[in-house]
Amino acid sequence: MINRRTLLKRLSALPFVGAFVGSGIPIAPGLAHPISLPKRDLIKELGLRTFINAAGTYTAMTASLMPEEVMETIQASSKEFIMLDEVQDKVGEKIAALCHAEAATVTSGCWSAMVLGLAGVLTGADKEKIAQLPNLKGMKSQVLVQKTHNVAYVHALTNTGVKLVEVETAEDVEKAINEQTAMMWFLNYTAPEGKIQHEEWVALGKKHNIPTMIDIAADVPPVENLWKFNDMGFDMVCISGGKAMKGPQSAGILMGRKHIIEAARLSAPPRGNTIGRGMKVNKEEILGMYVALEKYINTDHEKEWKSWENKVAYIANIVSKVISVTTSVSVPPVANHTPFLKITWDPKVIGLTRVQMQEKLRFGTPSIEVIGNGDHEISLTVFMLRPDEEKIVARRIQEELIAAKI
Ligand SMILES: *Cc1c(COP(=O)(O)O)cnc(C)c1O
Repeated sequence: MINRRTLLKRLSALPFVGAFVGSGIPIAPGLAHPISLPKRDLIKELGLRTFINAAGTYTAMTASLMPEEVMETIQASSKEFIMLDEVQDKVGEKIAALCHAEAATVTSGCWSAMVLGLAGVLTGADKEKIAQLPNLKGMKSQVLVQKTHNVAYVHALTNTGVKLVEVETAEDVEKAINEQTAMMWFLNYTAPEGKIQHEEWVALGKKHNIPTMIDIAADVPPVENLWKFNDMGFDMVCISGGKAMKGPQSAGILMGRKHIIEAARLSAPPRGNTIGRGMKVNKEEILGMYVALEKYINTDHEKEWKSWENKVAYIANIVSKVISVTTSVSVPPVANHTPFLKITWDPKVIGLTRVQMQEKLRFGTPSIEVIGNGDHEISLTVFMLRPDEEKIVARRIQEELIAAKI
């Protein structure tokens, strides 16, 4: 019988024995990584449902697919260490130049751009105040918002401890402003419903020396929106990176006045004792965001728009061959400003509700996600489709409409 001592002796006579223990993967001496990793398909391994996204850039649907250039950037930068602040400095300068801002920083989404921007306004460079948030002792405590702009995303603002003060008219603003007013926030996509438009909001802020912030999260296209509001005079502009720009979904941009962006960064990682410590973006996302932005700006937007129109027309043509089906195309004026196709059917002819249709598409092969409001209609958009997926979408919808004919 072999005793423990002999066993250990024999084992240690084997080359690189330590590297075999535990992992099961042989590792050559001096290499930090296994020689080759076995290929894994985690989507299959975990049984995850993938789908054709005809719905849009929804957070729940993982927003957008990053283009090759962005993924290459993420891969390449993942192999090196770089100081986090140095990546932010360099990328911030580039983004600021591209978007006509004094300064910029990559945040973990538009939401954290709002938190950090407001934190910067509240604290300035004061270390004690930064450590103290969301306790506002010694700081201003109110943010003005128009009533029609007061939607769920304002939670990003109240996270800093501030109270929102609702206003409707310019007179309301004049009355509401006091020594506690820290900032005036504007939500671009509800602008058409508000009584005060962009320029007037900026002018009121300037008149009273109160910084203004605009949320344009989902508001490219048009590409001009990337610089329009910086040019207009908003002190801070916040945008999502993972929506139509197809950067990392966990990235966004805060841009605007240099002193505010600098102060905002004092509440962001790597600094620890801050309100923004959980809003981390690493070098891969920061660089990925920059490349996505650059690629988006350099896109032939006219050509892209034409291709969206063609895809929508293709689907409309196929599905409207089914009896009682009508289609219409619309483009939201702000936010997700791309062609949407609404497909409506007569429930007396086609026995399907919207929810049933969505389920048939979701659980069919391949799985497809669409949106909708009414009981007998679905809506879809094509800007998140990969090449030729419009053909599959058109065919699947047509099949289900035909199958449900009464
Ligand atoms: C998506 C969105 C946000 C949040 O953006 P993230 O990039 O997901 O953090 C904020 N405001 C509006 C209007 C949005 O549409």
